[in-house]
Amino acid sequence: MKLYYIDTEKTLFGENEVHEEGCHRLPKKEKLEYLGTFASCHTAVKMARGQFEDVTGCYLCSCHCS
Ligand SMILES: [Zn+2]
Repeated sequence: MKLYYIDTEKTLFGENEVHEEGCHRLPKKEKLEYLGTFASCHTAVKMARGQFEDVTGCYLCSCHCS
């Protein structure tokens, strides 16, 4: 199980990126929202889609979940 966060600031493509704890691309704390602890980024992205319109997995830590 890993901790997942979402970047509340949208990318240039209008997406909110989901990150794993410890990712090198994690944004500053002020822009982060904690999603929860999940077995995989698939669940994390699914959860985030309930709150954000366009969610994608970060290419570094969660690329298989975009
Ligand atoms: Zn990441």
